[in-house]
Amino acid sequence: MTEHFTWGVVLSKNSIGEADSEYSIFTWDLGKVRARATSSRKITSKLAGHLEPGTFASVRLVRKSIEGRFRIIEALRESKIESLPLIKVFDFADKLIPLEEPDLKMFSFFKKAVFSGVISEAKAYSSILKMSGFDPDTARCGICGSRKIAYFSPQDIMFLCLPCLERRNNLKKE
Ligand SMILES: [Zn+2]
Repeated sequence: MTEHFTWGVVLSKNSIGEADSEYSIFTWDLGKVRARATSSRKITSKLAGHLEPGTFASVRLVRKSIEGRFRIIEALRESKIESLPLIKVFDFADKLIPLEEPDLKMFSFFKKAVFSGVISEAKAYSSILKMSGFDPDTARCGICGSRKIAYFSPQDIMFLCLPCLERRNNLKKE
């Protein structure tokens, strides 16, 4: 079993079963990790307040083996974003960022966003896309090639223009 003490920004939170939660945390040294708070209902609820999405926290993680799952033992909140649109941007970033690839530039971006809290939603989206290697300024629609991109789909890993986005959403509904 290895223990790991680090700092990170909580990108998203998912419920696992009745009482447990899995957190996606972008740490400065491990990159993005998924870690569960599972030991007991009491500990899970105590940790929850320190691990809401948009929080910068120090965390103590343990892992049974190299490939094993991280478990959160301790978390201490240092600061938290209150802007809901920015928390949505963090959730978007979570879909885009690969697991366990450290990126100090990305880390300082998230940290700054949490502590300053003044970055605009549009600026945040564009910075995250650029740091992930998708530059909105030179991008084209992944379907028709138009430069008038309106949307980035993290699932398809491509930009879409508005007409293509609408066409695709209609297809999904049918
Ligand atoms: Zn298009």
